Amino acid sequence: MMSQHPLKEFYNETFVMAQRQLDEVAKAMNLDAGVHERLRWPRKSLLVSVPIKLDNGVVKVFTGYRVQHDQTLGPSKGGIRFHHDVQLGEVAALAMWMTWKCSLLNLPYGGAKGGVCCFPEEMSESELERLARRYTTEILSMIGPEKDIPAPDMYTNEKIMAWIMDTYSNFIGYAVPGVVTGKPVAVGGTLGRTEATGRGVARCVELALDRLKLATDTPTVAIQGFGNVGSITAKYLHQKGLKVVAVTDVHGGLYDKGGIDIPRLMAYVREHGSVEGYPLGETFDAQEWLALDVDVLVPAALANVITAENAHLVKAKIVAEGANGPITPDADKILEEKGIFVIPGILANAGGVVVSYFEWVQDIQHLFWTEEEVVSKLYHLMDKAFVDVYDRSVALKVSPRMAAMMIGVGRVAEAKLLRGLYP
Ligand code: NAD
Repeated sequence: MMSQHPLKEFYNETFVMAQRQLDEVAKAMNLDAGVHERLRWPRKSLLVSVPIKLDNGVVKVFTGYRVQHDQTLGPSKGGIRFHHDVQLGEVAALAMWMTWKCSLLNLPYGGAKGGVCCFPEEMSESELERLARRYTTEILSMIGPEKDIPAPDMYTNEKIMAWIMDTYSNFIGYAVPGVVTGKPVAVGGTLGRTEATGRGVARCVELALDRLKLATDTPTVAIQGFGNVGSITAKYLHQKGLKVVAVTDVHGGLYDKGGIDIPRLMAYVREHGSVEGYPLGETFDAQEWLALDVDVLVPAALANVITAENAHLVKAKIVAEGANGPITPDADKILEEKGIFVIPGILANAGGVVVSYFEWVQDIQHLFWTEEEVVSKLYHLMDKAFVDVYDRSVALKVSPRMAAMMIGVGRVAEAKLLRGLYP
């Protein structure tokens, strides 16, 4: 019988889902009960009030979180998101997925995540700067290059990472670029970081297509979300000759049967902030993106979007999780029964943390690599992880998600058993 946490704030839909995935994999691999129990809860969670003065002079308090799920294999690593849905349970779930993701990719990290509950799109740049700096100050005791290293996530970007690095460095008394990844290159960022997650998603789709041998030369793709992950995935799939026929964002959906000119759409979105109003193709109800008759679906926006209620509508043969947790466990079962190949997020969207790891290594060594080196090392790790997952899923006749979790959880569990339980 698994334990319940006394803090009811953990029990949101996403955390329950992450725990359920762990419970299922623990059962399948006969995981040590003590290790399983320890992995079901985050190691450390911090909730902070983040007061800032808005541009109109009014003082407003935002709620921020930093959750470290595990640090068995090294410091914890995970992004910071600014979003109105941020809450403790969701941050904890994302931190747990980061643990499995880092372990699956064989990175010397545990998982963490952070966030501030706010409406970033309604805030000015100076308000966002004050928010980022004050949030950093409030979580300062938890972060550091040897302890816990944040990175960008939804509605945070390299500019915000530079403010976090600057705030932390001011407290420490000298420049500490290794405290955060996803920074601009000019302050110790790495070449290739901005595009890393989308590149990794596109690479996994390519590798899956190679194995599944679909009866088409130009597979079609629909993508939910056209931010960092969605747009870069689209860019590289388009470059590889796939036909991206639909993309959506928070404002609406764009469909073009003949294939969207992705570089042109990216230029439009850079200028207008959304796919809305793009002059080519047609608009469609963004809610219906998952039911489109395409070969590949890439959810690259939110969690819990493919559910037991709509999973039966999916016609695609491959779903690559660009976002974290877009498929609920019940929906996962439906997709599996339909024979759909789901590339789990801990593999598909791991490119970001892989190149974040490279950035941290370069910062610590004060020795920087060329973009070619970064990209070739990224593909090396992604390809190895994909093959490990695929081969294990075939050998054990389990889903790619189960295979990926078995590898990710297995490495952490082995290290936990070897290190033992203190005291
Ligand atoms: P982003 O802020 O750059 O983009 C988010 C996109 O989602 C935007 O286009 C937004 O309009 C769209 N969106 C928001 N709500 C939507 C809705 N209801 N319907 C359709 N579209 C909607 O964020 P991102 O960095 O691209 O992250 C997207 C997802 O990928 C998140 O789940 C994040 O955790 C995950 N992820 C990001 C990275 C990374 O390196 N950026 C790495 C791993 C995983």
